[in-house]
Amino acid sequence: MNKENMKKGINRYLKVKYGVTVDDAKEYEIFNALSLTVLEDIVDDWKNTSESYNSGRSANYFSAEYLMGRALGNNLMNLGLYDDAKDVLSELNIDINKIEEIEEDAGLGNGGLGRLAACFMESAATIDVPLNGYGIRYNNGLFNQNIEGGFQTESEDNWLKYGDPWSVRKEREAQIVEFSDMKVRAIPYDTPIIGYGTKNINTLRLWKCEPIKEFDFVLFNEQKYDKAVSLKNRAEDISRVLYPNDSNDQGKILRLRQQYFLVSASLKDIIRKHKQKFGTDFENISVNNFVQLNDTHPTLAIPEFIRLLVDEEGVNFKDALEYAKTFFGYTNHTILAEALEKWNIKLIKKLFPRILEIVKDIDKELIKELKEKHYTKEEINEFRIIFDRQMRMANLAIFVSKAVNGVAKLHTDILKDSELNNWYKLYPQKFQNKTNGITPRRWLRLCNPELSSFITKLLGTEEWVKNLDLLKELKKFEDDDKVLEELMNIKLQKKTQLAEHIKNEEGVELDPNSIFDIQIKRLHEYKRQLLNAMYILDLYYRIKENPDMDIPKTSFIFGAKAFPGYVRAKSIVKFINEIAELVNNDEDINGKIKVVFVHNYRVSYAQRLFPAADLSKQISTAGKEASGTGNMKFMLNATPTFGTYDGANIEIVNEAGEENNYIFGLRVEDIDKIKEEYDSTTYYKKDKNIKRVLDTLIDGTFNDGGSGDFEDLYNSLLEEGDQYYLLADFKSFKETQDRVFEDYKDKKKWAKKCFANLYSAGVFSSDRTIKEYCDEIWNIKKTSIK
Ligand SMILES: *Cc1c(COP(=O)(O)O)cnc(C)c1O
Repeated sequence: MNKENMKKGINRYLKVKYGVTVDDAKEYEIFNALSLTVLEDIVDDWKNTSESYNSGRSANYFSAEYLMGRALGNNLMNLGLYDDAKDVLSELNIDINKIEEIEEDAGLGNGGLGRLAACFMESAATIDVPLNGYGIRYNNGLFNQNIEGGFQTESEDNWLKYGDPWSVRKEREAQIVEFSDMKVRAIPYDTPIIGYGTKNINTLRLWKCEPIKEFDFVLFNEQKYDKAVSLKNRAEDISRVLYPNDSNDQGKILRLRQQYFLVSASLKDIIRKHKQKFGTDFENISVNNFVQLNDTHPTLAIPEFIRLLVDEEGVNFKDALEYAKTFFGYTNHTILAEALEKWNIKLIKKLFPRILEIVKDIDKELIKELKEKHYTKEEINEFRIIFDRQMRMANLAIFVSKAVNGVAKLHTDILKDSELNNWYKLYPQKFQNKTNGITPRRWLRLCNPELSSFITKLLGTEEWVKNLDLLKELKKFEDDDKVLEELMNIKLQKKTQLAEHIKNEEGVELDPNSIFDIQIKRLHEYKRQLLNAMYILDLYYRIKENPDMDIPKTSFIFGAKAFPGYVRAKSIVKFINEIAELVNNDEDINGKIKVVFVHNYRVSYAQRLFPAADLSKQISTAGKEASGTGNMKFMLNATPTFGTYDGANIEIVNEAGEENNYIFGLRVEDIDKIKEEYDSTTYYKKDKNIKRVLDTLIDGTFNDGGSGDFEDLYNSLLEEGDQYYLLADFKSFKETQDRVFEDYKDKKKWAKKCFANLYSAGVFSSDRTIKEYCDEIWNIKKTSIK
């Protein structure tokens, strides 16, 4: 598409969609018109790609979450149209940044798991891999977060308020999904996944739930209006809202409906396509398709697949189970006990009794196999899928899947050696590692054009955007002072841009010349934002005692949403804001350190934060963070990690060198050794600094609005035994951060660390991860359209 056509397209869509001309168009109208113009330009390639994929083997990603963020900038960039669009808009007196900013994030995910799905989709498209995404089109994504008086408040995320120009409703491919008490329609909305520098256009298909009948005409005529639309509302409830995770609440019947809705509609879609090609020959179904389950959320796909083949296609159960065993793969994302999904079988029976019958039959097959292998009854109980009135989704997924994978080396080892050790001994060949990755398009090329141009200049090619391994070749510049200086200039530019944004959004002024020390991720006790906060408060007191303390000026930046029902997480948000209030307004401190909690952390905010960081805080309790991907985004933007020996931090440090990063704290094996006799109160008694910090939670230094929330935090660290080992790691944290301050003073030494992280980041491209899935699990070949 040339500029002339782009301009015509914008005018045309403004006219037909809004009845306006450019001169009086609103920003969101321009956004929609430009998006539709681009969409129109790619529809033929999109159609050709789908047809080409349908004629061979393809993989399908089943995920309850896709944390996509904004589409426009990324799509323009990947199509090579960004500069043209900028010019065209500027000729029309419009600033492209404003048009990009008007777009709402598609926030259909909680955090890392949903963002991983989004990176995978983009990578598969970029490297021409036939991967179809299936998910739910939630009307409301993850809540919006506000901070009022230091407390988190939530409001609904109305991401569709300006429409969704990138999705196409495919009415004719709607499916019916049946629950025992209701029948609904699943309408697919297809979004093109536009890779970088390729003609292939992949598809993300999200299902919206609608009633079979819009309303009951008889009731309507009888003027019973509420009742007439209640059926419609009940159906629409199913895709109304994304559930925040970290929920302990068991009253999540709607969530179970969502899971079944997703898998039933998606499998029917896959079977429909299969029948178009092969008729009713189902022996081939797993030859042509593979389904990757992103965590256990879509695990009902397994019994639903068998149900569809047995009940609707006349396949016998044994065969259907055998097909399923080569049709599915399962990715485990966590070992946190509270995150392991179990459903009360009463609930399953109530919503879909036939699924329960099928799972019982699967369970029988499992028991039979284990008995033949001479397992004892007690041992067998550990494997059971239905046990103690519960359906254990992970056991179901492992038994039936072709492959089970963890998401970083340490995580996979923990699965094999402890969490799933019984399964590993039964099926060693099923277990694999696939270390997560991130797409370098969004997380470097798009969010950091300054650094991207510099890399391109140094390498003399832009190939690295598609082949991130080429970053290694930057190593030859590691002693080049000019290169290091320019790298730091770019960092300063990104920090200046972020400071400007934070001033506008949060009303806090940061000095771009201070260290930007950043911790951004969901708020969770295991991620230990509280440890970081305690460190900062201790530092504050140390500076008060010793005003001449020689440390570089530092800005501590937090961003995190706390699940609305997770009281303790919300208390930590308030605590951080109380510390910010104290520190930022203390004249003795004189701006030496500052603290800011940025509100409503999400993908678009993340794109400003990662490039502007001097230090990446990754401080989870060892063994608890399966992989992390935020850590990779920092690294790719030339930022050293300050972290525990956990998840992918270990692999990051292996690649970039321990000397270029900061590892602190207990390791998994250390924790295993001390956990029996760990007594956090001894730290409180022995370490005056720890005592001073913890006492602020109960002595009225800070105001929790009389809620008792701070006392609860205090108790979590002392009475409740500090299950995440904050106090045990405090000293090591402090010593390590002191080393950061020392090292940072030597500008060149620091720049070299940043640069080493950049040139070592290639392996963390999600292109690499997708290739591994293709070769080692999916058995999928790249399929490029002409
Ligand atoms: C990358 C990302 C995450 C995951 O961060 P972790 O530090 O790996 O937990 C969560 N939310 C957003 C918006 C992200 O971009």
